[in-house]
Amino acid sequence: MTATTGSICRSCNAPVEWRDGQNGKRVPVDVATGESHFKTCPDARQWSRQNGAQATPTSSSSTAKDRAIARMSALRSAAIYCGHRGSTDESVKSEHIFVMAERMLAWLEKGEN
Ligand SMILES: [Zn+2]
Repeated sequence: MTATTGSICRSCNAPVEWRDGQNGKRVPVDVATGESHFKTCPDARQWSRQNGAQATPTSSSSTAKDRAIARMSALRSAAIYCGHRGSTDESVKSEHIFVMAERMLAWLEKGEN
């Protein structure tokens, strides 16, 4: 049984102690009442909603698919562009497609943030 004193609930700023719970998970306990802070925290509802959102796939995992789509469309746009340029400019080579696609992606990702 280990306990850490001096913690503060990030939701309601109540002083809490982290103790080892029954299932080996650390649980916050009210310093004042000795009860689980999961029960006493006025923002507990909000927490469990946040925790639930973390358990389910977040938007970050769906961006992996979005990125793949973005990569493909960048590559396709680059291929079209280089195809046009290649018909008039002999210095344009197929590897330029990838260079250009990378630049397009960098530009796209900059726009997302
Ligand atoms: Zn709290």
